[in-house]
Amino acid sequence: MAIPPHGDAENGTALPQDLSHKNRDSADPALGHFSAQVISCEPDGKGTYVVLLDETAFYPEGGGQPADRGILGGANVLDVHERGESIAHTTDAPLCQGARVEGIVDWARRFDHMQQHTGEHIVSGIVHALYGLDNVGFHMGALVTVDFNGELTRAQLDEIERRANEAVWANLPVRVSYPSREELDTLDYRSKKELTGQVRIVTVPGIDVCACCGTHVAATGQVGLIHITDAQRYKGGTRLTLVCGSRALRDYAGKDAALSESGALLSAKMLEVPAAVERTLAELSRLRQEAASQRAALLEVKARETPRQEGNLLVFEEDLPPDALRQYAVLLAERCGGIAGALSSDGNGGLRYALASRERDVRPFVKEMNAALHGRGGGKKELAQGALSCTRDEARQFWTAQEGEAK
Ligand SMILES: [Zn+2]
Repeated sequence: MAIPPHGDAENGTALPQDLSHKNRDSADPALGHFSAQVISCEPDGKGTYVVLLDETAFYPEGGGQPADRGILGGANVLDVHERGESIAHTTDAPLCQGARVEGIVDWARRFDHMQQHTGEHIVSGIVHALYGLDNVGFHMGALVTVDFNGELTRAQLDEIERRANEAVWANLPVRVSYPSREELDTLDYRSKKELTGQVRIVTVPGIDVCACCGTHVAATGQVGLIHITDAQRYKGGTRLTLVCGSRALRDYAGKDAALSESGALLSAKMLEVPAAVERTLAELSRLRQEAASQRAALLEVKARETPRQEGNLLVFEEDLPPDALRQYAVLLAERCGGIAGALSSDGNGGLRYALASRERDVRPFVKEMNAALHGRGGGKKELAQGALSCTRDEARQFWTAQEGEAK
């Protein structure tokens, strides 16, 4: 059964055999260790098995939160879903019907989900209270994203993060309740849809009240740290990417290592890396300009030293960028009566070209050369440029043949 985000009739109602409901909001790993009887085990036709138990501590996927993983009677639990009134476990091995089996929830994974999910409540509650925006989408996987139906500025994001972490430091209890219909009518809580039946309300006092079926930590201090790593415009609103708890620590450690490595490369202290990068880029730009002007001077000398000749002139020069190639062709056009061509390798096994002439229209020549040497490009009457898919020898042969025809 697909469960809409943050609760409805089914996921708001505690299923009779659903131990996971009892321990959804406790950080005690002992609660993920249980014993149960196998009601049924059927192959699902995909090489895996669907196991129903008389009771289970495994959390089934729902409310934007992925299912638990773990071990059941020695088999790996690959997925857990609600199926009607039952919770269906997908296992990689069959279990005997009627047998008593031991279940162990992968608690590190579960606790990670609890940290992320509780962090999401805190952030959503603060965004709602401060800026009146609603959480309209929640996804928890390798990344945790929360979508809000409005835009948030950088300053607002900073304020949200600050207040969210203050809520963590206050170590507020995360309370779960099942209010009556009458109580619900007077309760102001976040919910994505019209709820019917028993509703599960998760409260972080002073921060958030929300209808939710997911798993949460018992007190906000267990969330550890909340950090917004990214904010993007999304469907007219904002998509925030969050890291909480152990994920925030890993995020910090990873960035710390990256900055430390960058600092070592730049011989700069970590916090001085941006300034060092700026200096390095400025230096790079200055060196590029210097190299370009030296190359230009060198090409002028080379062109001057090229003997004057009557017909066409073809010259190969290693590793010239397009602008230098163009400049060289124009200089060489001064040294011949026909068309001057400057060719250089393009770094991908082909050739780049620039053609120039003082007297002839280069365009018909370019057209023919492109056709003969699988080229592309063009230009004006006096200057054209492009690329060829051929070897130097093939280019030279073409030029020699053209010369022959011209005579
Ligand atoms: Zn929740």
